[in-house]
Amino acid sequence: MNNCLFCGEYLVIEVTWATFLWRAPSFIICSNCEEQLVYSKSPDAIYFHNEFMNDVIHQYKFQQDLRVAHFFAASIRKAIKKRKYDVVIPIPMHPKKEIERTFAHVETVLKFANIPFQTVLQKDTEEQQSKKSKKEREQVAQFFSLISGASMRGKKIILIDDVMTTGKTMSLARQLLMDAGAEKVEILTFISGQM
Ligand SMILES: [Zn+2]
Repeated sequence: MNNCLFCGEYLVIEVTWATFLWRAPSFIICSNCEEQLVYSKSPDAIYFHNEFMNDVIHQYKFQQDLRVAHFFAASIRKAIKKRKYDVVIPIPMHPKKEIERTFAHVETVLKFANIPFQTVLQKDTEEQQSKKSKKEREQVAQFFSLISGASMRGKKIILIDDVMTTGKTMSLARQLLMDAGAEKVEILTFISGQM
């Protein structure tokens, strides 16, 4: 495969960090595209959102180009390498999206990265939410719950999601895990910033 993953440009001798530093890369990125990647300054995210990243997300989620999962997998392997943790937990998709049979974007990346993870979080469905009284809904902003039998006591956890905009999803999930006895909950997203 000698075409750039993102712009499709045919690459002859151009060798980038992607081909050198990442073990057995299943993609190549041209230097033009590489220059458009903006790294996040926060440890909570790998890339910062920009126009280019918008296209990358579109290529991954809507065109369902799985080579992009390899790109994020390589990025996250690098980002997670020096961290000390017991468990990696991905933020689950909205149940409605699973019914639509959209593939699990975050879990696919973790699988490609060979990073073991536990799916212990579940998002309440709208049906479950609607069973709560108005007062309950106002009091309990929490829309995650733990699957039964999941023990988080004393665990150092890394929570993973694809895109972080307001950070509300992450803080709710973190709160739930801390309440369940986790020692520490770090956050790592592929991309942060306004969409
Ligand atoms: Zn390119």
